[in-house]
Amino acid sequence: MKYYILFGPPGAGKGTQATAMAEKFNLCHISTGELLRAEINAGTELGVQAAALINNGKLVPDEVVEGMIASRFASVKGVDGFLLDGFPRTLKQAEALDELLDEDGEVVTAVISIMIPDEMIVERIQGRALKEGRADDASLATIQHRIDTYHAQTEPLIAYYKARGKYREVNGVGSIEEVREAIFNLF
Ligand code: AMP
Repeated sequence: MKYYILFGPPGAGKGTQATAMAEKFNLCHISTGELLRAEINAGTELGVQAAALINNGKLVPDEVVEGMIASRFASVKGVDGFLLDGFPRTLKQAEALDELLDEDGEVVTAVISIMIPDEMIVERIQGRALKEGRADDASLATIQHRIDTYHAQTEPLIAYYKARGKYREVNGVGSIEEVREAIFNLF
């Protein structure tokens, strides 16, 4: 099985690019953000707890998202692999993922990182807020908190995956088609 990680700051276009990649390579696209938003919309207990964190630009606890990933790995069949979008977001999640895969003799295949500068993050997320109406896209303070969280907790994963020879980066500044092309050129 292939295990790809789509990496990058909020607003880099991970979700947009994930669809094309999942189709081309017959991968199951797992977005932890989307799964959490589904819990919020369904009004589950988890959703209520997650909303309080997400709407303030904070991460949900590692164990919550690790459990979501493990249950998808165990239940999804008929694909050639998985495309993780928005996970892992902390070093602890990255280590948990390695352990989970190791139990099945598997490893992360590659990390595909879509990079955009901080100034563009705010612009992109504000544009998305108008289209998708996500509560966590609505306020500038929440967006800024997510950017800070990305730099503090998620960016260290770049060194983690570089050290393991898994890290590939594309320039996320450009049209959807240009970025898609750059991703496909990695293969
Ligand atoms: P996203 O759709 O990937 O931008 O995620 C939206 C929000 O869901 C994030 O800002 C976090 O609050 C939460 N979230 C998504 N994935 C994770 C994760 N792997 N770890 C912790 N929180 C997450």
